[in-house]
Amino acid sequence: MKGQTAIITGSSRGIGKTTAEELAKKGVNVVIADIDETIAKNAAEEIKAQFRVETLGIKADVSDVNDVKVLFEETIKKFEKIEILVNNAGITKDNLLIRMKDEEWDAVLNINLKGAFLCSREAVKVMSKIKYGRIINIASVVAFIGNPGQVNYSASKAGLVAMTKTLAKEYASRGITVNAVAPGFIQTAMTDKLPEKVKEEMLKMIPLSRFGNTQDVANAIIFLALPESGYITGQVIHVNGGMYM
Ligand code: NAP
Repeated sequence: MKGQTAIITGSSRGIGKTTAEELAKKGVNVVIADIDETIAKNAAEEIKAQFRVETLGIKADVSDVNDVKVLFEETIKKFEKIEILVNNAGITKDNLLIRMKDEEWDAVLNINLKGAFLCSREAVKVMSKIKYGRIINIASVVAFIGNPGQVNYSASKAGLVAMTKTLAKEYASRGITVNAVAPGFIQTAMTDKLPEKVKEEMLKMIPLSRFGNTQDVANAIIFLALPESGYITGQVIHVNGGMYM
């Protein structure tokens, strides 16, 4: 993987940041694309200093078509090619259906699903030229089991799983694999904000009796990003401590 280039969206913290660090550890040049410019640039500098790879920190709201175009243009300007795209940026805006506002539905679908569509559309143009690519979409266990209060989020993640399979079929002939990782309950800022009672109930559903950490998820992402994983496409790897099997 040394010398390859990876774009990881939403990577200035959480699962995305750990994934960027793990890729950098393997000598991959990483692009930290995040909605906040300052923290994206800071994370990119930090990773460059720690792992001695080239990095780029860039402001990119994945739901904005122009931001996504600039993200890919700047990446190509600096690195000339892109081998790996991790569609990781995601948000929650939880509410029961009856109370869910249009804006909450739109924001989650636009970032979690349309964002991955926009980034993948740019990525395949570049990857098709080199006849190689690894696209990894970060879905969620709730795409498979549902979750009250997350009609928008679970629909976005189920859409991502279906998109993974379709893109895997569309781009297999170009040497591009497209897979998904579906985390369960992972300790990040996204889950820190949940009430303690909800966390206790969640823990009861996990046979391995612990919440996951960002490293658990990054390990699966790295596996799918490896050149040696080239015969795996259209698949979902579940990283959930056994809460869904
Ligand atoms: P996180 O800690 O909240 O990190 C998400 C990152 O995405 C943040 O850096 C955030 O930036 C960024 N982001 C938000 N909106 C964006 C946008 N429009 N464009 C670009 N970047 C944006 O979340 P996480 O827990 O690491 O989650 C990462 C992925 O895993 C998400 O897709 C999530 O749905 C999925 N996942 C997480 C869990 C879990 O239990 N944590 C479970 C299943 C799936 P700011 O910090 O500036 O907001």
